[in-house]
Amino acid sequence: MNIFKNTGIACFAVQHDGLNRIREHGRPKLRQSTLKFYLLLCKRTSRGVVEVDAAEVFKHTGLTKNTLPRARAELARLKLINAVLKAGQGATYTYSVLNPKSGQPFDPTGNDGSAYFQVPTVTLFTDALMQDNKVSSLVYTSVLAEANRLSTPHLNLSPKKLAALSSITPETLRNALPALINRDIPLMKIIERKVEVLDPYTGGSLNSSMGQNEEIFWHFSKQGKRVGVHELLTPENFIVYYTSELPDLVPGLAQQDVRCQFHLDSDPSMSVNLEEGTWFCHACGAGGGMRDFEMKKLDTENKAEAWRAICARFGVQFLGKKRGAVVSEHIYHDEDNHPVSGPGPALLRSG
Ligand SMILES: [Zn+2]
Repeated sequence: MNIFKNTGIACFAVQHDGLNRIREHGRPKLRQSTLKFYLLLCKRTSRGVVEVDAAEVFKHTGLTKNTLPRARAELARLKLINAVLKAGQGATYTYSVLNPKSGQPFDPTGNDGSAYFQVPTVTLFTDALMQDNKVSSLVYTSVLAEANRLSTPHLNLSPKKLAALSSITPETLRNALPALINRDIPLMKIIERKVEVLDPYTGGSLNSSMGQNEEIFWHFSKQGKRVGVHELLTPENFIVYYTSELPDLVPGLAQQDVRCQFHLDSDPSMSVNLEEGTWFCHACGAGGGMRDFEMKKLDTENKAEAWRAICARFGVQFLGKKRGAVVSEHIYHDEDNHPVSGPGPALLRSG
């Protein structure tokens, strides 16, 4: 699940689970203020801990002296935050946003669990989006969580499904989408049923979880030519590969749930996307691309080993990692400060 790791988006999956918990288990009368307060804390949270004074909460959420303590108690009851009153500071609390899965504060130094990373500084929700268009925020959060769940920024969602995902009506969805799509830097792109989550910093496409930036350094031979292993990442190959690994898989379905092969799985816990070649098991938390699957299968941390096995599967020769390109040259000088040039070993021999 490293697709959104570098963009800080994974936190929205956290928020999403938190929001769902509030919706499902929160006290109905407090639900609105609890949701608002939770979103504010998620937004303000960096490294999992944040100090927020009451005035700030009032200003950004519309909560009051009456509703704030209740919302705070509600979030603590739902095990979504820890709140500690700061000594001598009146109304300032130090909040920790908890990992909804573990109930523990996030580890500021690294990944925390398979599907959750540290709660990063949430810079993606602009104040305008948060305050003026909460439904858009909800749609965005839901789409990000789904993308994070499936390890792909490309989702196949009809408007009806998209609305259901966000727990809103299709009419409400229609009104919420322009704020996400028609922005200077759009957050989502929708063409018919294809929903794409965009890089919130550039508005461009996000890299997929297949780690292509890294994989271009691994090579195999194709008609005598050195080719990056990412060339193997095609929907056709995904079908061949996953069909042979997952007995339940239906080759014609782009997205489906099958039984996970990494543990005893009676219900289909593993989501597979055959267009992206990605998979994620909701039971054991494992997921990634084809290489990750092979690594898990071989029980290895060695990426080259996984690529070697995949290359063998497709009948191509694995060449390994290409040596890095020359990025800088340094000219050496001899004792008389003349630049040393020409073939080094010859100079050494003559010297
Ligand atoms: Zn599993």
